[in-house]
Amino acid sequence: MSIYEQLGVRTIINAKGPSTRVSGGRLAPEVTGAMAEAATYCVDMAELQAGASKIISEITGAEAGIVTSGAAAGLLLGTAACVAGLDPGRMARLPDTAGMKNEVVMVRSQRNFYDHAVRAAGVKIVEVGLPDRVSGAGVRDAEAWEIAEAINEATAAVVYVSARRSRPALEEVIRVAHARQIPVLVDAAAQLPPSTNLQYFIGLGADLVAYSGGKAMGGPQGSGILCGKRDLVMSAILQNLDLDIEWDQWSPPSSLIDKARLTGLPPHGIGRSCKLGKETIVGLLVALKRYRAVSDEVRHQEWLSVVHHLAAGLRGVSQLKVSVREGLVPKLVIGLENARDICRELQNGEPSIHVDPAYVEDGQLVLNPMCLAEGDLDRVVERIRALVRKEDS
Ligand SMILES: *Cc1c(COP(=O)(O)O)cnc(C)c1O
Repeated sequence: MSIYEQLGVRTIINAKGPSTRVSGGRLAPEVTGAMAEAATYCVDMAELQAGASKIISEITGAEAGIVTSGAAAGLLLGTAACVAGLDPGRMARLPDTAGMKNEVVMVRSQRNFYDHAVRAAGVKIVEVGLPDRVSGAGVRDAEAWEIAEAINEATAAVVYVSARRSRPALEEVIRVAHARQIPVLVDAAAQLPPSTNLQYFIGLGADLVAYSGGKAMGGPQGSGILCGKRDLVMSAILQNLDLDIEWDQWSPPSSLIDKARLTGLPPHGIGRSCKLGKETIVGLLVALKRYRAVSDEVRHQEWLSVVHHLAAGLRGVSQLKVSVREGLVPKLVIGLENARDICRELQNGEPSIHVDPAYVEDGQLVLNPMCLAEGDLDRVVERIRALVRKEDS
């Protein structure tokens, strides 16, 4: 009996990709093995994060880095770092930001569900730019001068969400923010692949970058990375760690936390609720090393063979228009009538199959290969064939 059967919970077939709602991806045995081993020892958590920082720095080129309980946690910790700096009094007062820099500038078209994590630090988001796209008449989004204009005495940071269509270019944003000594925090949660993005944002001069560990990186579902400038990362980890210890008993690893620069030890910070376990930190680090060791090309070929396997199984079904959409992650696109109903029936059936529902309005089911196991493929093919036959009869 599987652990999920013992708990009375069914497992699903995940053709949606490593989304949080469907529990992220499936971990490699190397990662789960490391997590199981890590869980049987005890360590000093600050020392473990200092060890993590060394590995993250090597891989990203950042001055420092910590493992977080997800990219959203990285956004909260990163924002809190930009607001409080190394001042323990400020760390203690968050999310009350009275008297502190408490505004964050964001491009309006980049606002998203995850910026709640930014606001949770106690800042107000100042939106700039008018994304004149939906009407069909417009071509513009935000421009760098608009960000420059929104920066004032109260600005703690510019938060930039990296995606294919993000405007203005990050270089421009960094240029105008740095001209006013304002740090730029990049949400790069879902920017892998390509693996070169592990260095790209830091290389451009971003002050902090948040990645998701549970997406393409292949780390534990509740993990992520926050990396960047040493002082900001030091502030972030101070607001994340459990600090229930007296000052003279406290000897944090100086490579991550320079005690000499602190005027006192703050109480647990705003990020204490983003606690993560040692096994998560170890699992993320092993996944990160693995991610770097395998080339994008090899991963791409594996995904492509999954997509082609599915396509081969569905070709010849007259009601389906099956095609392969190339891209950083290749996808299977199935055009059909009643895409919305079939999508729901796939989820509610046995086995429960989750596909990407974002295109049902266009009459398409999109299947992501990243989280599918070999044994899932024929079950997906069979189930879709059966549903289409049923619709027809
Ligand atoms: C997934 C995602 C997040 C959240 O990442 P978690 O690791 O689940 O916390 C934040 N921002 C963007 C743009 C994302 O795609």
